[in-house]
Amino acid sequence: MLPLDGSTMVLENGATALSSTGKPAEPSEQPDPHAVGTSAPEGPIVQVALIPAQGNLDILDYVVPESLAHEVAVGSRVVVPLGRRFVMGVVIQQVEHSAAPHLRPISACLDHNGPLFDPLLLELARWLGEYYLGSLSEAIATMIPSAIKVRVRRLLSTAPSALTEVADPKDRNIVEHVARHAWIPVPTLRRQLKEAFSTARLERLCRQGILLVRYQAEASVPAERQGLRIVRISTPLPELEVEVWMQRRPALWRFYEYLYHHPSGYATLDELQANFPSARAKLRLLEEAGVIEWDRLAPEPILSSSTETASQALPLTAHQSEAVRQLRASLHEGFVPFLLFGVTGSGKTEVYLQTAEACLSAGKTVLALVPEISLTHQLVTALRGRFGSEVALLHSGLSPRERWQQWERIASGAVHLAVGARSAVFAPLRNLGLIIVDEEHDGAYKQEEGLRYHARDVAVMRARLANCTIVLGSATPSLESYYNARRGRYRLLHLPERIDTRPLPTVELIDLRGTRVHGRALPLSQTLCSALEFNLAVKQQSLLFLNRRGYARFLQCLECGAVMNCANCSVSLTYHQRKAALQCHHCGRTTPAPRCCPQCGGTAVAAWSAGTEQVEQVVRALLPHARVARLDRDVAARPKALLEILNHWIAGNFDILIGTQMVTKGHHVPNVTLVGVILADLSRNLPDFRSSERTFQLLTQVAGRAGRGDVPGRVLVQTYRPEDPVLQWAASQDYEGFARYELSHRQELAYPPFSRLVLARVEARHEEEAQTVAHQFAATVAALGGHALQVLGPAPAPLLRLRGWYRWQVLLRSTHSAIARRSAAHARTLVRERLSQKAHVRIVLDVDPQSLL
Ligand code: ADP
Ligand code: ZN
Repeated sequence: MLPLDGSTMVLENGATALSSTGKPAEPSEQPDPHAVGTSAPEGPIVQVALIPAQGNLDILDYVVPESLAHEVAVGSRVVVPLGRRFVMGVVIQQVEHSAAPHLRPISACLDHNGPLFDPLLLELARWLGEYYLGSLSEAIATMIPSAIKVRVRRLLSTAPSALTEVADPKDRNIVEHVARHAWIPVPTLRRQLKEAFSTARLERLCRQGILLVRYQAEASVPAERQGLRIVRISTPLPELEVEVWMQRRPALWRFYEYLYHHPSGYATLDELQANFPSARAKLRLLEEAGVIEWDRLAPEPILSSSTETASQALPLTAHQSEAVRQLRASLHEGFVPFLLFGVTGSGKTEVYLQTAEACLSAGKTVLALVPEISLTHQLVTALRGRFGSEVALLHSGLSPRERWQQWERIASGAVHLAVGARSAVFAPLRNLGLIIVDEEHDGAYKQEEGLRYHARDVAVMRARLANCTIVLGSATPSLESYYNARRGRYRLLHLPERIDTRPLPTVELIDLRGTRVHGRALPLSQTLCSALEFNLAVKQQSLLFLNRRGYARFLQCLECGAVMNCANCSVSLTYHQRKAALQCHHCGRTTPAPRCCPQCGGTAVAAWSAGTEQVEQVVRALLPHARVARLDRDVAARPKALLEILNHWIAGNFDILIGTQMVTKGHHVPNVTLVGVILADLSRNLPDFRSSERTFQLLTQVAGRAGRGDVPGRVLVQTYRPEDPVLQWAASQDYEGFARYELSHRQELAYPPFSRLVLARVEARHEEEAQTVAHQFAATVAALGGHALQVLGPAPAPLLRLRGWYRWQVLLRSTHSAIARRSAAHARTLVRERLSQKAHVRIVLDVDPQSLL
C-alpha cells in the first residue's frame, strides 16, 4: 500500500478530529455506531458517496463540522466515519434535511485547494452511473484513478508538550508508546499495547489535544506495478502426450488447457490457485514436461521523451486547412461534434495540433484521447513536441501516487492539455474547449470490467455537458459515428488524400482455395513467399500480420471457402470439437457439424488454431537469411523486449516482423513496403456481428502501415473466400462503399446503429447454475420489456469458461436504449432477489457491448 499523495491526502486535524466521532476504530470492539451521535454537532448536512461503496451502502448523510466548514464543498473528497471504520467519500450535494436519525460529522477533508470534482464532472458521474447501470459511487470510483481499493488509516502522534502534561501512569504508558513513533496506525498501537490499550483513554487523550490524529487514504498498487509473477505455455504439449494426458491425467490436462486457452495468454499463480486444487504441484508437472515458462509482468513501457523533438506548425494542405478552419470556428459555438474521416497518412494529427493550438490560445483547455499508450501513440509524441512538457500524460504505468499528482495538477489549472488512454476521459480539466478522440473506432476505448463505459461515448457526453467542441478522428470510423455523421448529428470533415498525394498501397486478395501452401499450421502461399523474398532482396521491410483472436473456432471449407453461419443471426457458428457440433452464441441454436461442406461437398476443416510462433517457424525455414522478429501479446508482456523489438524495427534492423493486432497501430516506418495478412478469414468469422467491421478496419489499418515512404506499398491478403464483399471493399480501400454495404446489412438484421444492445452475462462456478440463471433472466426481462424488447438467447458465451467462471449470455435489443437498459437493470434486481444467499452467481450488464465474445 502506498499513500495516494504524501502531501495533500494526509491531513492533521489536531485533537478535534476524534472528539465527536468518538471511538477509535478497532476490529474487536463492540460496534456502537449510535452512541457517538449523542452530541452530534450542528452544521450543514451533505450527502457523501462512499468510494468505493461499502456493501450495500453507497450514499450517506453527514454533517460538516464547524472546523471543516471552510474546506468541505460539493465535489470534495472527504474521510467519513462508518460504523467503527473510516472510509473515503466524495461530497455530492448539500441537503436541507436528512431522514437518518443520527448524523455523524465528516472527519476530514482531503482536498485543500478546492474540490477535485467540479459540478460538470459530478454531472458526468451521474450520467455515467445512470447510463451504464451502476451506482453513483461506482461511477465516481470508476472516474477517480485507483480509487477501487482505497483504504483509510488513522495514525496517531503526540503533541509537543504531551509527556509533561500526563500524570496518570496508564495514560502515560500510552502516550510514551505513541511518542516513540512518528505516526503510529491505531491497529498497530493496539497490537503492541495489548491489555494496556484502552479506547476510552485514547479518545480522551485526543480530546485533550495530547494525542494528535491524522487520516491517510491509501490505494493498493496495481499488481502489474510490482512485476507480478505470471506463467504461460511456452511450447505446446507434443501431440503424442496429448492423448496420454487426456486419458490418464484428466485433471492435469484440464489445467494445461486452461492455461493454453487463457485469453490473456498467461495466468497468475493466485488465479491458478483459486481455480485448481494443488495448482503448485500441477505447475511443477508442467514444468517437468517443459511446456511452461515463468515471467514477470511489468508496467506498460513508455518510450523515452528523448524521441520527441520540438515541432513547428506545418503549412496545411487544402483539405487540412478547411478542416482546421471549421474546427476553429466551432470553438466559440458551444457543443459541436465532428467526425474527422481521413485516410491513413492524410495528416489528421496536424489538424488536431492546430485546432488545439487555437483552443489553448483562447484560454481554454484540451483533452486528447488515444486508444492505447503502451507503444507511445504518435499523437502523444506530437502533442509533446508541439506543446512541450506542459502536457499532462496519463498512462497506466503511473503509480497511484503519480496519478493523483497528475490529477491534482490538472484540477488546479496548472496544465491545460491532458492526453491519455480510456480513463483520461475523466481528467479534471476545467474550462474545456476541445476534446480529441483519435482512432475513435478502436475497441480499446471500451472498458471491459466494472462499469463498462465506452470512453468515446463518454467523451461526447462530456463535450455536451462542457458545451465544447469534440472531434472524433479515424481512417475507418465506427459505423455508429459514421451513421451519426450521415444523419447530420456530427459534422463530417473529410481528408480524402494522403499527404504529398502519396498513393495508398495496392491491396491484392490471394485466393488460397485449392493451392498448395507452405506450413501445416497456417497457410503461406507461394505468392506471399515470393513477395517476401523479393522484398528481402531489395532490402525493404515486410510485415506479416496474423489477425487471430484466440478462441473463436469456425468451420471453413478449404475447397470453396464456405463458412457455416447461423440462419437467424448471421454470425458464424462456433465449432465444438468434442460435441462435433456447431452452435450459435447469439441465439443458442445448435446443429451437428456436417462431415462435408454443404455448399460444394468438399471436406470441411475446423478453425485454425496456430499462432504467430508457427508462422515464425515457417518463415524462418523458408527464408533462413532474413532477420525475423515477432511481436505479439507474449512479447508485449515483457516491456523491455517489446521496446527493443520496436526500436530495432524502426531502425531497420529486422527484415520481417510477424505480429498480431498490435502491429497495426502507430508507427511510421517508411521502409515497410510489403504487408502480408496471413488469413483474413480469422477475424472475419468471429461470432460477433461486428466481425465484418473489425476486419475492414484491421485490413485498412494494417495496409496503412505500408508505403509510408517514397516506395509505394503492396498489401497481400490471403483468404479462402476472396469473393466476400467485406474483403472486396477492403481491397479497394473504399470505406464509404463498405459503410453503405454494411449499414444496409445491419439495418436488415436490426443490429446497431439501427438498434441498441445490452449484453447480460451470467457467470457462475457451475455451468448448470449459469444456464439456469440465464434462463431466469431471459424470461424475466422478456416479461418486463414487452414488444419493444427483443431477447436473444440465452446461449453459452463463445468463451464459455473464463478464469474459473462459466458464462452464459442473453442479448437484449431494442430501438430505444433506455428500454433495453431499464429492463436489464430491473430484471437483474429481480433475479438477484430470487437467488439463494449461497449462490455464486454474477450478473454483468454490458451496455452497448463492443465484444460479444
Ligand atoms: P494520419 O494520422 O492521418 O494517418 P499523419 O498525421 O500521421 O496521418 O500524417 C502523415 C505524415 O504526413 C506525417 O509524417 C506528417 O508529419 C506529415 N504531414 C502531415 N501534414 C502535413 C503537411 N501539411 N505538410 C507536410 N507534411 C505533413
Ligand atoms: Zn443464431
